[in-house]
Amino acid sequence: MDAILGTVLRSAVRERLDVLSELANRGDAASLLSVARTEIPRLIEGWRTLLTAHEADEKGNCPECSGRRSPQAAPCAVWRSAYDHLVAGALAPSPARHQLSAQELRPELVP
Ligand SMILES: [Zn+2]
Repeated sequence: MDAILGTVLRSAVRERLDVLSELANRGDAASLLSVARTEIPRLIEGWRTLLTAHEADEKGNCPECSGRRSPQAAPCAVWRSAYDHLVAGALAPSPARHQLSAQELRPELVP
């Protein structure tokens, strides 16, 4: 992948994450439900695909993260990140929006 294509790809992914974040933070109930039904299954499938690629090989190394001369023991950083975001993060949920102060919701509007 050349540098320009890599930049375009990263930019598109970041923009998509920004759109989803904006919807999660400010979308109405109908929008949230619609996005949840379409995007959560896509995110689950994406994580599963990514994690399958980073599954340990017969030597206990990650085939994607290992170099020819530098094996990377599994679980690799991708699996650790999945754990941090999907499991550990789920154990300590952030407060619901209705529990946040106006300052926390829109700090730029509160003097
Ligand atoms: Zn890996």
